[in-house]
Amino acid sequence: MTDLVDCVVVGAGVIGLAVARQLARDGRETLLIERQDAFGTETSSRHSEVIHAGIYYPAGSLKAQLCVRGRELLYRYCADHGVEHRRCGKLIVATQPQQIAELECIARAAQRNGVEDLYAVDRGEALRLEPDLSCVAALVSPSTGIIDSHGYMLSLLDAAESAGAQLALLSPVTALRPAADGIGVCISDEAEPLLRARWVVNCAGLHATALASRIEGFPAAHIPRAWYAKGNYFTLSGRAPFSRLVYPVPEPGGLGVHLTLDLGGQARFGPDVQWIDELDYSVDPRRSEKFYGAIHAYWPSLRDGQLAPGYAGIRPKISGPGEPAADFRIDGPDAHGVPGIVNLFGIESPGLTSSLAIAERVGAIIAGA
Ligand SMILES: Cc1cc2nc3c(=O)[nH]c(=O)nc-3n(C[C@H](O)[C@H](O)[C@H](O)COP(=O)(O)OP(=O)(O)OC[C@H]3O[C@@H](n4cnc5c(N)ncnc54)[C@H](O)[C@@H]3O)c2cc1C
Repeated sequence: MTDLVDCVVVGAGVIGLAVARQLARDGRETLLIERQDAFGTETSSRHSEVIHAGIYYPAGSLKAQLCVRGRELLYRYCADHGVEHRRCGKLIVATQPQQIAELECIARAAQRNGVEDLYAVDRGEALRLEPDLSCVAALVSPSTGIIDSHGYMLSLLDAAESAGAQLALLSPVTALRPAADGIGVCISDEAEPLLRARWVVNCAGLHATALASRIEGFPAAHIPRAWYAKGNYFTLSGRAPFSRLVYPVPEPGGLGVHLTLDLGGQARFGPDVQWIDELDYSVDPRRSEKFYGAIHAYWPSLRDGQLAPGYAGIRPKISGPGEPAADFRIDGPDAHGVPGIVNLFGIESPGLTSSLAIAERVGAIIAGA
């Protein structure tokens, strides 16, 4: 007879870490299982490290609700646990008069989502805030910030372990077998389950749909198709003359080539949107041409040769090119009918910001079952 634990969380990215912490603090025996040799090496270390305010998402969507709630929880968490972060604010800029209407739409969406501190500024006020900017108008989001995301994940792991959770590395989950006495968890293609769990939470990020298809008997209708949208970054040589993040109006599939800063003041631009079929993190230097074009619209003094290929992250999308962006999916037994399984699909941006709120949601599904 294999061991029975309360909860197995598959995937130790920022979401799995936050979920494991939540479940352990709820008093559940929790095992966090990761196939790599370290936590947070996939999407959770390939993003912009921005704490989003919750501006853009459709009203009532999980993205809107969990971003606004998650942002508050995250700022509090960082303050309580000494995780480095800065509420630096951001500007969303219209670089042409016809984009002003888009700013107005964004401001209305923000208000519907409960983002109460966003305000509009004219060109003069925007330039007073950021003198090197070129724009005709802007929105200011004071509650947008940046975070040391590795420090955050380390802190989540520490909190999860202090509450009794355990992390197992180098342990790919290759099959899940729901049965009356718990869900059998098979590791590394072993024929027999290594353990059983009352609950399995699938936080496998880009591989969440593949893992769901390895749950024996799981209804295929409840597994969305995975799409990959790569986001390439270019880094700036030299210091950027900005103290806030600068975003253009959004583009289909992403938020536009924006400028973000890390806590050391280093600027990076991106991510763009490149739909791909295979996971591939290389950055094609030729893409810089488009970056120069997009950045010059709001920062004309960027000089040739200042951008170098940086890194890339891949958005775990569940909607394809040209389709409206899908919402986060946190599917418990009420959604798919299989006891003991919670699948998280499509946890793209603002997943980092929403992580603690997503974990709360998973905790509530399990507590309410
Ligand atoms: C380009 C880009 C920019 C972004 N910028 C931001 C931002 O600024 N702010 C923000 O809030 N969000 C941002 N996001 C979103 C954020 O990065 C993600 O929502 C978040 O990192 C997802 O974390 P995760 O734990 O779900 O996935 P991951 O970090 O990918 O973790 C999944 C883990 O599961 C493991 N795994 C997979 N399959 C198995 C298996 N079978 N067995 C065991 N382990 C397995 C993987 O090895 C991995 O470690 C961005 C995303 C991208 C792509």
